[in-house]
Amino acid sequence: MSRMTVLWSMLASTSLAFALLHLFIWAKGIQPWANLSFATAAIAIAVITGMELMAMRTTSIEQMALILRWAHLPLLVLWLAIICFVRCYFDAGRSWLAWLAVGLRAVALILSFSTGQNLFFDQITGLKQVAVLGSETISIAQGSLNPWYVVGPLSTVVLAAFVLDAAFTLWRGGTDTGRRRAIVFSSSIIFFLLTGTCHSALVNAGVINSPYIVGLSFMPILLAMSYELSFDLLHSAQLSDQLQDSEAELRLSKQRMRVAARSGELRMWEWDIVPDEIWSTDDDPRLYGISEPQKISFEHFLNILYEEDREQVRHSVERSFIKGNGHYESEFRITMPDGQVHWFNSRGRIEFSEDDQPLRMLGVTIDITRRKQAELAVQQQRNELTHLSRVTTLGELSGSLAHELNQPLAAILSNAQAAQRFLAHGNTDLAEIQDILKDIVNEDKRAVEVIQRLRLLLKKGEVQHLPVNLNKIVEEVLKIISSDLVNHNINVNIDLAKKLPAVIGDRVQLQQVLLNLIMNACEAMSHTNADRRRLFVHTEQNGIDKVQVSVGDQGPGIPSESLGNIFEPFFTTKLQGMGLGLPICRTIITAHGGQLWATNNTPRGAVFHFKLPTSPGESA
Ligand code: ADP
Repeated sequence: MSRMTVLWSMLASTSLAFALLHLFIWAKGIQPWANLSFATAAIAIAVITGMELMAMRTTSIEQMALILRWAHLPLLVLWLAIICFVRCYFDAGRSWLAWLAVGLRAVALILSFSTGQNLFFDQITGLKQVAVLGSETISIAQGSLNPWYVVGPLSTVVLAAFVLDAAFTLWRGGTDTGRRRAIVFSSSIIFFLLTGTCHSALVNAGVINSPYIVGLSFMPILLAMSYELSFDLLHSAQLSDQLQDSEAELRLSKQRMRVAARSGELRMWEWDIVPDEIWSTDDDPRLYGISEPQKISFEHFLNILYEEDREQVRHSVERSFIKGNGHYESEFRITMPDGQVHWFNSRGRIEFSEDDQPLRMLGVTIDITRRKQAELAVQQQRNELTHLSRVTTLGELSGSLAHELNQPLAAILSNAQAAQRFLAHGNTDLAEIQDILKDIVNEDKRAVEVIQRLRLLLKKGEVQHLPVNLNKIVEEVLKIISSDLVNHNINVNIDLAKKLPAVIGDRVQLQQVLLNLIMNACEAMSHTNADRRRLFVHTEQNGIDKVQVSVGDQGPGIPSESLGNIFEPFFTTKLQGMGLGLPICRTIITAHGGQLWATNNTPRGAVFHFKLPTSPGESA
């Protein structure tokens, strides 16, 4: 086989190889239009190269004329492919230039069939044998040129103008990649387009004796196009590698986060509010009543909580949605898959959109079961202690309470005896008997009231937080202790605020506090002259959301060095004292969100004050 044949065959097969490669990439759906147009261009070049080889090997004028005629078909296809490539890949180039270039090429094809023997020659008169590469000879057509021949080079010039225009657009786009493409691609296309066309014109005109090198001159264009596409392919492969790396990194960091979260007994979560999807580091889906790990909705999350806790969680979430707040915190219980109830504390922050719509909430949930159990145990002990202290206080009051009970009982007895006497004497004045019975009923009611008040204080029940009126509490406590006050010759000055907002609290515990303070005041006045023993009970509204109660006496007051100690457990100055009354009172008031403190009165005596927050909606 001759060297020219080998060379041109290699060119054609290289083009075909390029075409196959990019057809494969096109089939994968990667930049389909750019790869398809590239593959088409490569096939067209392979065909042109094959035709060139046939032309240089032919010895028949007719065959040469036919080859040169049909050569305009792959050229039209090539033009279309280049234009398509530029438009799809660079998204540039003026349409009218594209249409003009293709139009002229199509006209050239038509003229090739309709004028002369083909577009190059009007008449081929002979085939010149030209020696190339030393000893090899090839055929070159000779004859009179077709006057329409100029249409071919004209279409090349328009195509070059189209590419140049696209290059300018790319250059003006300003990106580094755009400018590199503008230079590499446009310069190679324009240079080799013009080279190929000029060379063919010179061969046809008989100026130079050489085979056609259209295929050869298009090869660098093919390389330039392939370079661009491969560059992108390489870049996307690199990106995909990087993506895989970062995905692996993400998985690892999620895993690390899970391990860290698990060891810290906390769960991190994220709630995409708009699509309503909650993601959590908790990988035990059974916790959410689902079998596979998946995102759950807010309603789903609420459903796994204790029924009693759902409303307050929903409430705190709704509060956090308010513009300017954005903070969420709540405590709730969940029954775990093993049947145990766990307590959780959850906190989160909302991310708002620019128009203040809640977008996302990020937060952590901590298992606080152990803390809660300890708190409950302490609470229980505190309740026991509070109850014990109440019983002790009432023990101290037992004398006066017995007296309080004796009075109605004695009245009942004497009334009943009087009735008996009336009946024994046959005196059946029904009106009188009715009066006696009425008195009995009233006294009985009084006794029942005393017993009920005592039962309430002695009761060991759950702490209840309900709205209570402190004026009422003062009145109730003063009723319980009234005979004690009388026995100790203590005058009471009551000054109750007319309109006092309610506080949220436990009625019995607040009674206990007041009872304690009043009893301490009475005890403090045990050595005060009988005519100066005076107890002051005062209620008032303190600020817009507080209610204050003060209990004052005319005793010796509290020595200034003891003022800081009296609330300490077991601090007492009394022989029989336990030193638990005031610390318990302070615990109760603190648990109600309030404060208890003491001051000395002028000229004598001590005053104990406590203030409590009013219940929401009750503030003045
Ligand atoms: P206890 O009554 O068993 O001593 P408390 O905790 O009730 O325990 O009181 C602690 C101490 O505070 C009392 O021993 C007393 O010294 C002082 N104290 C309490 N109330 C008054 C008061 N109204 N006036 C003077 N001192 C008081």
